[in-house]
Amino acid sequence: MQRTEIIFLPFVSTHAIMRSYAHRVRETEAIDMSSRNETPEPLPPCMLFDMDNTLYDFFHAKNEACTRVTELAGVGEGAELFRYFLNGTHGFEHHHNIQDYLRDRDVLTEKLYLEACTVYDEEKVASLRLYPGVEETIRTLHSKGVKLAIVTDAESPQAETRMRAIGLRQYFDTVVTPDISGKRKPNPDTFLIALEHLGETPDISWVVGDSPKREIEPGNALGMKTIYAKYGDWIGIPYPQIIPHYTISSFSEIKTIFGLE
Ligand SMILES: [Mg+2]
Repeated sequence: MQRTEIIFLPFVSTHAIMRSYAHRVRETEAIDMSSRNETPEPLPPCMLFDMDNTLYDFFHAKNEACTRVTELAGVGEGAELFRYFLNGTHGFEHHHNIQDYLRDRDVLTEKLYLEACTVYDEEKVASLRLYPGVEETIRTLHSKGVKLAIVTDAESPQAETRMRAIGLRQYFDTVVTPDISGKRKPNPDTFLIALEHLGETPDISWVVGDSPKREIEPGNALGMKTIYAKYGDWIGIPYPQIIPHYTISSFSEIKTIFGLE
């Protein structure tokens, strides 16, 4: 599908890679794996990856953690607590959602709250399961000399814990988070700092993520090649104006894109 889109490039003043405000009109072409060009793409020097719901099913892990908390509290069901994390009052990761839930059900005590937070954190990490093909694909890219980075909106302690829990931390040169970049996606600063750490520029780099708004749109705007990990997009809001270079239905299709099979 051919589409013309206007891309607005932000001004990033604090990094080595400087870009001025510009309007750019470009022809983009969405490619899914069933209609893609058979010619493999050349391997890039580096790739950026989102973490949650791109490498593993974070929705599942969070559901499991919420269920454990409601079992501990003896009230309600996991899905009810999960809705507290979604409603935006405290943010998607904040323990205060648990506090509100316990208070609304008249079971809040300091002891239960602290226990619930511990159970929640432990279960969330213990329930992380890689999507099929992730470990093998990451290992292959790493062995071919592609430098890898994580660009995530999780805070550093959580991001580092999750990357170690799934056994992939050693393959990534850097893990860039909002406490490092000062910004959350879709602001491009996290991407730019990751690229700076890797010593590369956006125009020759790729980004992979499950969110059109948080990874594909800023990646396109920076002139990167973008891969939409559709299998992980549990929110599923359509963004017809945001067009990735590739859409994949399983992680190992990344190898197909680069002819690594
Ligand atoms: Mg994600």
